[in-house]
Amino acid sequence: MDRRAFLRGAAALVSAVSCASAGKAQAAKTRLILLGTGGGPRPRKASSASAQVIISNNTAYVIDCGNGVARQLVFADVALRTVRHIFLTHQHSDHNADYGNLIWLAWAAGLATRVDTWGPPPLKKMTRLFFEMNATDIDSRIANEGRVPLLPLVHVHELRAGGLVMRDENVKVTATLVNHPPLVPAFAYRFDTADRSIVISGDTTRSDNLVTLAQGAEVLVHAVLYTPALDRLVARVPNATALRASIMANQTSVEDAGWVAQAAGVKTLVLSHFVPADDPEITDQMWIDAARTHFRGSVIVGKDLMEI
Ligand SMILES: [Zn+2]
Repeated sequence: MDRRAFLRGAAALVSAVSCASAGKAQAAKTRLILLGTGGGPRPRKASSASAQVIISNNTAYVIDCGNGVARQLVFADVALRTVRHIFLTHQHSDHNADYGNLIWLAWAAGLATRVDTWGPPPLKKMTRLFFEMNATDIDSRIANEGRVPLLPLVHVHELRAGGLVMRDENVKVTATLVNHPPLVPAFAYRFDTADRSIVISGDTTRSDNLVTLAQGAEVLVHAVLYTPALDRLVARVPNATALRASIMANQTSVEDAGWVAQAAGVKTLVLSHFVPADDPEITDQMWIDAARTHFRGSVIVGKDLMEI
C-alpha cells in the first residue's frame, strides 16, 4: 500500500469512527414516542389508549398505561427492561388499565431492576392488589425460572399535590393539578432533560395551571376534543346524555388546547387523546385548523408510535 492509499484508508477509518460517535450522540438525545393516542377506554382498531414514553440515556419514563402499553413499547422497539419510572396522570381506565400489566409483563420480559411509580391515590392499593391477584404466576416464575422477586423492585409514590415529583441524572419531573372532574387529583407532568422540555397534559378542562407548567416548553402533548363531533360520538351509546355532559365538563376542546399552547408559549403542540378517537369525518386538517384558531406555533396530529 502506498502512502496515499494508506492516508485514504486512515481518513476513511477516522470518518467511520466519527460517524459512530455522532450516532452515539444522537442516541443520547431525549426521545418522545406516542404509544397510544385515542381517547376513551373502548378498544379500537384505529388507535391504542393513552400512553407515551420519554427515553433519556436508554432509560424509559412511561406516562400513562392505557390498554396495550407493553405491546406498544415493543412495537416502538423500546426494551421493556429499560422501564424505570411510570407516571399516571389520573385513575381512568384509558390511562391506567395496563399499569400493573406493564410492570408484570416487563418483568416477564427480563426487567430485573427497580421501577418507581407515581400517580394519584389509590396507587398503593392498586399495586398491592394487582400483585396479590397475580401471585400464582409471579411466584411460579420466581421458583421455576430463577427470576428475581418482583415486589421488592416496585416502589410506589402517591401524589396529592403539584410540584417537584422526582429528579435523577436524566430528567427533572414536575407536576401540576389539572381539572378533570370527578377525579381528584388529576395531574399534568413536565419533563426537563438536558436537551428537551416536554409536557403531557393528561385529561383536563382548559387549565391555567397547565399554562404555567408548560411555560416555554418545547413540546406540549395535549388531550383534545372535537366538539362538533360529540353528538355523533354519543349517538352510538345508550348512556349518551350523561356521557356528553361528562365529556363537556372534563375535557378541552382542540381550539382551547391551542389557546393553552399559545398562552404557554410552547413551540410545538402535539394533539393526542382524540375524542372522538375514530370518527372518519374528522380529517387531520380539521384538527390542525381548529388548533390554529389561537395557536401560532407548529401543530402535530399525534399518531400511535409517532416519534417527536
Ligand atoms: Zn380521564
